[in-house]
Amino acid sequence: MRRALKHTPVRLAIVGGGAAGMFAAAVAAERKIQCVVIERKARLGSKVLMTANGRCNFAKDISAEQFLADIGPAAQFVAQSVRECPPRKIIAGFKSLGVPLKRMADARMFPADGKAATIVHAFGDLLRESGVPLLTNCPVTGIQPQKTGFIVATKNFTLWAENVLLATGGVSYPKLGSVGDGQRFAAELGHSLVPYRPGLIGLETSDARVTRRTGQRFEDSCARVVAPDGTALYEYVGEIDCETFGLSGAAIYNCQRFIEHCLRERPALEACDITVEASFDRECVRLKGPRPRPLKEAIVTIGGVALDEVNPATMESRKVPGLFFAGEILDIDGPTGGYNLTLAFATARRAVESVASGSCSGVARLASHVRPAQGDL
Ligand SMILES: Cc1cc2nc3c(=O)[nH]c(=O)nc-3n(C[C@H](O)[C@H](O)[C@H](O)COP(=O)(O)OP(=O)(O)OC[C@H]3O[C@@H](n4cnc5c(N)ncnc54)[C@H](O)[C@@H]3O)c2cc1C
Repeated sequence: MRRALKHTPVRLAIVGGGAAGMFAAAVAAERKIQCVVIERKARLGSKVLMTANGRCNFAKDISAEQFLADIGPAAQFVAQSVRECPPRKIIAGFKSLGVPLKRMADARMFPADGKAATIVHAFGDLLRESGVPLLTNCPVTGIQPQKTGFIVATKNFTLWAENVLLATGGVSYPKLGSVGDGQRFAAELGHSLVPYRPGLIGLETSDARVTRRTGQRFEDSCARVVAPDGTALYEYVGEIDCETFGLSGAAIYNCQRFIEHCLRERPALEACDITVEASFDRECVRLKGPRPRPLKEAIVTIGGVALDEVNPATMESRKVPGLFFAGEILDIDGPTGGYNLTLAFATARRAVESVASGSCSGVARLASHVRPAQGDL
């Protein structure tokens, strides 16, 4: 005799198995929330494997308040997420998973063996041991809200989910899986997208003082953003690297990110009026109207799902109940130093905690509907 099977939705479909998606799944497992991770690449965490030249600077050993003070425009939106899941809690979490860690003099945290794979494996082991279903090599192609929950479509099958967490990342390094699908789904569901800009990227110059030093790295060098009237708007001391295209390294990256945010907040300011002064090896190279490298090479995407349409207390869409966001898909970004992975982890945790506590409106919406008839197979 055939046994009657019930069609039941998964409580949470996590779309994207990168930093935010893996962390979300780990939190869901801990909170006993039935979930599934759906990842378009053949393995989880492709971008995480590339972080910090394969070493993975996953956090900075600083307080939540210092973290929020450092990140700039997104601070208000992520404040609750970060206070509940501060960098030191993330560090303690990896320690509790048995990952040996290394703290640099500037408080940046890495796995002790210097291998990003150690972090990805820690997630993989945890999720496998917890029995979380992992669907890899499986791009999600669409999200359709239903009266109760969502239909999550992939190329080969569809899945019914009560809640969906979009954790599909930004749009840089598209070969690593982050191609902007999640932003497209969000836009199809009525969300506004803040235009993309590269964040944390090198600046082009053909200055001979740079090109003749190609391949050389200079620690403790100063890069400064200077306004048209000569005022120094921002300064960062860190590494400056000479590349074939121009300058890179943490000091340059952070200046470039500062300029992008500055241009966004002060529309009267033009990029061509800004100067970056890079001081290294007893030279001071001035880049007037600095030209960033292309977005596809950026460490982080500035722009994405607009924050005023997402509830910062739950990470739930204000437009589509039961739809959540975490990580770089959102218009959030931080400087170099582990801030972006911490942002992905903390927002992912907030989203899953909202599903767990039932504080989100998607749960209320589900409860208010009679479940669809559950037929026999
Ligand atoms: C070269 C490089 C170095 C970096 N170094 C650091 C560092 O040292 N420290 C730091 O804090 N940050 C670093 N970052 C930034 C950091 O990696 C990202 O901010 C972070 O990974 C964002 O996490 P996420 O989960 O939002 O996105 P991702 O980690 O990009 O994950 C998104 C996932 O979603 C999947 N996906 C996309 N579309 C679909 C779909 N349709 N269906 C299913 N799955 C889909 C993708 O394949 C991907 O696996 C670095 C970034 C780069 C590119």
